[in-house]
Amino acid sequence: MDQVAFPLCEGSEDELGRWKDHAQARTVMRFVAVPMPELCVAHGEPGTWSKRFRCYSRPTSDFDRKSRRSQFLRDFMFSWDRVVRQVDRLATAYSTTVTTYGCAACRGWLHRRRARSAALLVVALLLLIAVPRVLAESSQDGLVALSLLAGLGMLVVTVASARWLLEFARATTSEDGNRLIIDSPHPKYARAAVAMGAERIPLLKRTEEH
Ligand SMILES: [Zn+2]
Repeated sequence: MDQVAFPLCEGSEDELGRWKDHAQARTVMRFVAVPMPELCVAHGEPGTWSKRFRCYSRPTSDFDRKSRRSQFLRDFMFSWDRVVRQVDRLATAYSTTVTTYGCAACRGWLHRRRARSAALLVVALLLLIAVPRVLAESSQDGLVALSLLAGLGMLVVTVASARWLLEFARATTSEDGNRLIIDSPHPKYARAAVAMGAERIPLLKRTEEH
């Protein structure tokens, strides 16, 4: 259950592209300094497909220190708070572009995950659109409001489950923006990564730090 860490560095003019004159983007946009193996993180098999995405560091606030369960409950109740927090975070957190690879065996996991997200979205939309309509016809205002709230809650759940990519890639950008960390990769992936210049972080060292 080790981690591997890829060093991150500042982007060159080319890498920054249209952001190169933007001071804030220059500080927060990071780039992986060594090549990453084109292997699936979960199985260590050569990737048959890939996905590129932007991976943000998690700033540690009181909120982030809460357990996942209470974070989820809070999100459910304070959706707006969450939107503000996300916008804030996107503007100030370090981030890097990651290409993650998947093998044939990953497809099953992905299909199940996608099906769940799609089902949640349908339920959320139904609650938001259909139910208030039906209730409005029978003029029950309290219930309309209730079902709208339920619909919003479901949307939050849907967004949460759309985080599948992060979960799939097992990637996080470190808080100081200097490392891209892959959590418990397959040993084959870890070996390839270390050979290409990544650093292995044993679990033991991590628990000592905390
Ligand atoms: Zn795989």
